[in-house]
Amino acid sequence: MKTVIIRSDRRVELIEEEIPKAKGDFAIVKVHTSPMCTEFYHYRDGTMSVCLGHEAAGEVVEVAIPGKVKVGDRVVVMPGYPCGNCDLCLSGDYIHCENMAEPFDSSAEKTGKATYSQYVIKNNWLLLPIPDVMTYDHASMACCGLGASFGAVNSLGINSSDTVMITGLGPVGLGAVINCISKGARVIGIARNQYRAKLALELGASAVLNPDSANCITQIRELTGGHGADKSIECSGGEIYQRITIDGTRRKGQVAFVGESGSLNVKVSDDLIRKGLTLNGSWHWNLNLASEIMATIAGCNEQITKMITHTFALTETEEAFKLQLTGNCGKVLLHPWD
Ligand SMILES: [Zn+2]
Ligand SMILES: [Zn+2]
Repeated sequence: MKTVIIRSDRRVELIEEEIPKAKGDFAIVKVHTSPMCTEFYHYRDGTMSVCLGHEAAGEVVEVAIPGKVKVGDRVVVMPGYPCGNCDLCLSGDYIHCENMAEPFDSSAEKTGKATYSQYVIKNNWLLLPIPDVMTYDHASMACCGLGASFGAVNSLGINSSDTVMITGLGPVGLGAVINCISKGARVIGIARNQYRAKLALELGASAVLNPDSANCITQIRELTGGHGADKSIECSGGEIYQRITIDGTRRKGQVAFVGESGSLNVKVSDDLIRKGLTLNGSWHWNLNLASEIMATIAGCNEQITKMITHTFALTETEEAFKLQLTGNCGKVLLHPWD
């Protein structure tokens, strides 16, 4: 099978590997769609990676024992290799599993964990059925496309009475726009990149403001009756955006941080105690919401088609990385069999 790797000198290479074998509850999936996420940082920084990608949708081609999937099933591949037995896994919050396991017993079997590849190995209970009418491309948005913010939208209880501020409109922020619009909420986006600002407006955001504008917070207040957004989802991980998220949310409002970041500057008195903000971190979504996220994807067909702006073959991965570096794209997909 063909797999993409990055050498330390920024060389993007297509290599030939052994197809992994199904065993225990690990099934083999032929990858039809491999969404690109943050892997381009390796390309940008010149760091070697032989395991690129954690998002995929495809078709089950081999199972070792009868289980939750069978050969021929169309499935979304969830990220990670959690244990499946701890309280967190059993409650659906597998993404927080403390006992992430390796699918391999020996170093001889080491292929199949990367999704920038033609086949992937995955625990059968992390393979979610795709409705018949849904394409692999659209279904794959259950990974980081819509999935990254889906848990946050659920935990914040976003509904049609909310004005939600979404800071950072990369692929995760654009997915958050779709999730919030699907709940009937009004969305204000914050972004520098004009391509993505325009795309967010096409997806249904009612305004997109520039974080570098001196009166960004004033503009947010003007759009929200002087109070600030009811709820906010921070999708950038950037310090300026994080501060806007806190300052632009109303008193007693709620904030979910989805964008990965090293540290957060919070004023305990002003932001937490006196303003009464609730701050949450949110990573992915609870597996019990599987049918709900698939219904959201099915119901947002038109927006998802707009959000997926580019598709490349595995042989064109370097071109795709270069595009991601410009920021002038929405969600970018690889098609490993093109
Ligand atoms: Zn676990
Ligand atoms: Zn991802």
